[in-house]
Amino acid sequence: MTTTPPEAKLGSLNLSVPTGLWIGGQETDASDGGRFDVLDPATALPIAKVASATVEDGLAAVDAAEAAAAGWRAAAPRARAEILRKTFELMTERAEELAKLITLENGKALPDARGEVAYAAEFFRWYSEEAVRIQGSVETAPAGTNRILVIHQPVGVCLLITPWNFPAAMATRKIGPALAAGCTVILKPASETPLTALAMAAILAEAGVPDGVVNVIPSRRSGAIASALLADDRVRKVSFTGSTEVGRTLLAESAKTVVNASMELGGNAPFLVLRDADVDAAVAGAMIAKLRNGGEACTAANRFYVHSSVASEFSEKLAKEFAELTVGPGLEESTQIGPLVNKDSREKVVSLVDGALAQGARALTGGAAPDTEGFFYPPTVLADVPSAADILTEEIFGPVAPIVVFDDVQEAIAAANHTEYGLVSYVYTNDLAEGLRVSEALEYGMVGLNRPVVSDPAAPFGGVKQSGLGREGGHEGVLDYTESKYIAVSW
Ligand code: NAP
Repeated sequence: MTTTPPEAKLGSLNLSVPTGLWIGGQETDASDGGRFDVLDPATALPIAKVASATVEDGLAAVDAAEAAAAGWRAAAPRARAEILRKTFELMTERAEELAKLITLENGKALPDARGEVAYAAEFFRWYSEEAVRIQGSVETAPAGTNRILVIHQPVGVCLLITPWNFPAAMATRKIGPALAAGCTVILKPASETPLTALAMAAILAEAGVPDGVVNVIPSRRSGAIASALLADDRVRKVSFTGSTEVGRTLLAESAKTVVNASMELGGNAPFLVLRDADVDAAVAGAMIAKLRNGGEACTAANRFYVHSSVASEFSEKLAKEFAELTVGPGLEESTQIGPLVNKDSREKVVSLVDGALAQGARALTGGAAPDTEGFFYPPTVLADVPSAADILTEEIFGPVAPIVVFDDVQEAIAAANHTEYGLVSYVYTNDLAEGLRVSEALEYGMVGLNRPVVSDPAAPFGGVKQSGLGREGGHEGVLDYTESKYIAVSW
């Protein structure tokens, strides 16, 4: 265990980490002077006090974003691209310090944090390339009377709201395409992890982003700020990543002013291991699909459906691998699984696992929280999980793998689809034709076929059903920050 006090760890980073609001290119205090504590999940001790924006501060951020909008929209795409590219380079240069900052406030193990920084920076590289390729179209009207000219214009001032589980990547996945398209933004980061977002604001400014183009307003008053900003007709888009519950509220709020809305919401990813799968490959995939980010990922495999012919072998091998992992403070190099983000998250995991055990499941490894101040939970494999168990219907958001055995693949597909969510699913099989048939039948926005990771800045990430609306990443990602304008023209 490390002995450095948590608040000293922040000071020891070789990185500029503002703790005020970032509005119009300046760090400021909240208008009422309010601040809130950010905790280190490994110790439950505070690491910083961060300014908590009021509604007036939120509206001041809209003033700044609106004032910067015309200039940024008119900037040459190449100029915007160069700034995004520079941001990628600065993030890459400071990757290790950013990773430590993420670990400090989120708790995840350093290898996960390093992976996140690399992924997050890639959105700036990818969108620096997309900024100069926002192509319109021209065609002749079928009647031959005119041309149909279509251009894509920036949607305008955007409100971006992000969760704590990927404090850098969920922000860059929005800021990158928004800036490439010519939009200005107000980012409201999660209260658990505002420091990474503020450090990003400082890096973007250093890379040459003009004042007011990116504003960051941490706040403990998320609901009131979002309502006020969505009621302000200068705000033309909301892009939200977080729980389906909050997403529904934001969709209802944005209906009042018909604001363009993109939603990246919760998931309940099934992981199917078919009869002929390579079991070792499926176990290796399950380790990543379940445990990347300590299980705190919307893409985390939430339930495993394993064919009866390979179920025992898969379960035993997975339990053995889980049992060998080192759980500890994320900043320690030996740690593979850090703590969960907060007390509530740990209590939720405890209650889901206890419920499953009471309903007849068996813990092959793990299954009980240690008595620690930090929010640790051990990697856990549950066998014999009954199909009615609550753990199969709720997002676990922790290092727990419930396993259900099936005989008929149609049954497994039906069980996998029996959820309001539809973000990502995983299939392991050696029969590619069968794998593609199953992939088509799964009601999900994304499928990992013999692959435990789908996230890629170059690919359209997003869900169907109540997992969301719109896509982030790929070319679709930048179009989400534009409006198509059609000009009927005769020449
Ligand atoms: P959350 O509770 O929904 O919070 C997300 C963000 O919304 C935070 O910034 C939060 O601020 C803010 N917020 C809370 N209530 C709000 C309200 N009434 N109006 C406006 N904003 C509000 O989600 P979370 O616990 O941070 O993140 C976990 C969830 O995110 C999971 O469900 C996960 O699946 C989902 N997620 C989805 C994706 C995806 O791409 N589909 C990616 C990552 C995570 P405060 O922190 O101040 O409350």
